[in-house]
Amino acid sequence: MSGSQPHIFNPALNYIGGRRVAGAGAAFAVIDPCSGASILDYQLATGGQAEEAVHCARQAFRQWSRTTPGERSGLIQALAHKLTDRSDELASVESAQTGKPLKLASGFDVPGTIDNAAFFAGAARVLEGSAAGEYSPDHTSMIRREPIGVIGSIAPWNYPLQMAGWKILPAIAAGNTIVLKPSEITPLTALLFAEAASEAGIPDGVINVVTGTGLEVGNALTGNRQVDMVSFTGSTAVGRQVMASCAARAARVHLELGGKAPFVVFADADLDAAVHGAVAGSLINTGQDCTAATRAYVHVSLLEAFTAGVADLFASIVLGAPDDSNTDLGPLSSARHRDHVAGFVARARADGGRVYDGGALPSGELAGGFWHRPTLIAGLPQSAEAVQSEIFGPVLTVIGFDTDDEALAMANDSPFGLAASAWTGDVHRALRASREINAGTVWINDHIPIFSEMPHGGFGASGFGKDMSVYSLQEYSQIKHVAMDLTGTVEKDWHRTIFKSPS
Ligand code: NAD
Repeated sequence: MSGSQPHIFNPALNYIGGRRVAGAGAAFAVIDPCSGASILDYQLATGGQAEEAVHCARQAFRQWSRTTPGERSGLIQALAHKLTDRSDELASVESAQTGKPLKLASGFDVPGTIDNAAFFAGAARVLEGSAAGEYSPDHTSMIRREPIGVIGSIAPWNYPLQMAGWKILPAIAAGNTIVLKPSEITPLTALLFAEAASEAGIPDGVINVVTGTGLEVGNALTGNRQVDMVSFTGSTAVGRQVMASCAARAARVHLELGGKAPFVVFADADLDAAVHGAVAGSLINTGQDCTAATRAYVHVSLLEAFTAGVADLFASIVLGAPDDSNTDLGPLSSARHRDHVAGFVARARADGGRVYDGGALPSGELAGGFWHRPTLIAGLPQSAEAVQSEIFGPVLTVIGFDTDDEALAMANDSPFGLAASAWTGDVHRALRASREINAGTVWINDHIPIFSEMPHGGFGASGFGKDMSVYSLQEYSQIKHVAMDLTGTVEKDWHRTIFKSPS
């Protein structure tokens, strides 16, 4: 943990049946992305351990699925309190394993997760559906909303705590049990979350965490017939594999995949607001945010001023240690990801892009970290790789447009459809953009804020399914039609379609 007190981590990174269990697989390490040094050496879980966790979740399902919404609500509320008690620890561990500034972890990741828990505690008690009634003269029908069973969840490394919350909370609020596989490079806060749930009184086996690779533990979940639904957040490429594995056994799947959010600045926009919004919206979490602003489309009348404004603010960004209050931006998550991001920038430069680098790379004990300077790229065509592909780093491209039609067409010229923003003072433009941009979230004159009550999820190659909100509760439950005969007769009216008519 660069620049702060060392934290003693428990290297048993699985939570199976309410117990911390050490992995039985290969040696691995959690790396501090700020320095490149190991902060925890541990052993990965095996596929067999994932199966054991699924077995525990199956055992726990019978009892948990029969708790009342009120009981589940009370336990999830208690979890929200336990998470609140552990806020400082959660923020510092999240910061240690991701390198993100402490102000981001403690101001966004941790309170966001606690608010999610508080929301799902309330939402667990609100199950909506059609009215029971007589939809035929001879029957009374009613709808039951039931949990699905054992959920296998697979999460990425960018917001490990929030992803644990987004996956676990709606699943258990709806009466399911869960096995979560966090990313093996950032498993620590998911384990703290599971421990807090036990402290809150959530029964053993309801929440299990198995830390291993996608190939071994991920596949052990997606291909497991005892896993009734797979909920995946990660890249579109891996999402396709997960979907194929679920398709082979016709299992439910929920996919939250990549993004490439457009940021459209119309001619009448407040330029200062748009510049600030573009800097914050593209650099949030060092750009490792599926909804981050990545493609700015700016009316030609504002293009030069916008480009200069963003480049100036990028230049003032301070890259540094998480606990340094001057730090604006942390590193990327791994050396491999840093090289991946740098590759896009190098190719964009070679293709004629004008690259504006901001900030200065940290030195001294942070020299070994996975740093990437905030980067603005102008002068690329819409077809360029950096404009079309998800980079998932602190990189923003900027392209000018003449007409609103052209801007909206370029905004929609992407296979992804997770999030977007439009900047304008004109209500008609705002309404048109919110209607015509193909994305699961469209912000007007802002970019990034999310709320527990509102859904997060994609269109197109960004996946399907919603996280947060009552919509996610619905995703983690299934509806059953119960039809009851009202006649009490042996020969029902419709039997005439089978039996001969009485002569
Ligand atoms: P990734 O797809 O490489 O990995 C995600 C998870 O899948 C990890 O836990 C990984 O171990 C596991 N995995 C890898 N191969 C697997 C396989 N064959 N079977 C099962 N599991 C497998 O993604 P990442 O690099 O960890 O995260 C970055 C990506 O996540 C970006 O594309 C980003 O846009 C996306 N993301 C999307 C959202 C959203 O809500 N839509 C949120 C955060 C991140």
